[in-house]
Amino acid sequence: MINIVTKHTENAKAEHEKGLLRKTRAKLNSSSLPKYLKEFIDKNLTQILIEKPDKLLEINKEFYSTNKGSVKKINPKIREIFDYNSFTNKKQEYNGYSLADNLQINTCPNCNRQYTITISSKKVEGQLTRPDFDHYFPKSKYPLLSLSFYNLIPSCKICNSTFKGYKETDIKQHIHPYSDNIINDFSFDYKLSSKGLYKCESISVKFKEPTTKDRIKKTFEMFRIEETYNGHKFIVDQILQLKNSLNDDYLEILTQKTYDNINWTPEEAYRIGFGVNYKDDELCEHPFSKLKKDILKKEEMLSVFKTDV
Ligand SMILES: [Zn+2]
Repeated sequence: MINIVTKHTENAKAEHEKGLLRKTRAKLNSSSLPKYLKEFIDKNLTQILIEKPDKLLEINKEFYSTNKGSVKKINPKIREIFDYNSFTNKKQEYNGYSLADNLQINTCPNCNRQYTITISSKKVEGQLTRPDFDHYFPKSKYPLLSLSFYNLIPSCKICNSTFKGYKETDIKQHIHPYSDNIINDFSFDYKLSSKGLYKCESISVKFKEPTTKDRIKKTFEMFRIEETYNGHKFIVDQILQLKNSLNDDYLEILTQKTYDNINWTPEEAYRIGFGVNYKDDELCEHPFSKLKKDILKKEEMLSVFKTDV
């Protein structure tokens, strides 16, 4: 749900190309693929590694229409060239940890529930962690795109393995976290229980933009967004309790009346008050940033951002 184009993206893409181009070309040269296919890949190698999703599909289509042999015979050879298993091996100079380190995406863009931080220190072998990389176009069907930058979506294990599994995403039907920015096309909504004042009964998703509604809906169904968010109803309760105990102008108070007269900006007060960033392009820094922002908007607690409300 969160777009992951950040200030780090261009550098991460350049490093991805630098880290894989020579090695992949060497594997291509020693491959037993027919010469005309090797020439096709050689000519398009940079694009295969770093082109945007729609262009990747065009190159993939062109490759298989150029191919005159059996796809079943060709694909294992393609997998050896665009070798994802080798990419996941920490011993390789450039690998999945390098990409995760360069991207610096702190939470899963699919759910914004789980942290996806990277620990790649060489000193502590075996105790490393990084996000999974979800192949947006599955590598079983698109082996040519197994190492393509825009086909490697940093994700949490639950979204990648449990929910998506072998299901396929496709740009006509689903949201792509690099190509689409749908953050203002939907919002989280909630109903309160009649039993308790600050008891959230259910969380739901409201769609605001008809042109993206179907794709967002399909993507959210795949990652079971509504169901999982209903496991976190206490976040709504907490914000409503805060509103009631303090004031609608909680953020305004933080910007004006700190004890030692530190003048926090509205963004700083927001981060300190709710533990998440305010700006849309920083929502992937912390879990539940979008949910919290939507609750605060609905409860009219954002008047401190005067231009925004
Ligand atoms: Zn996730």
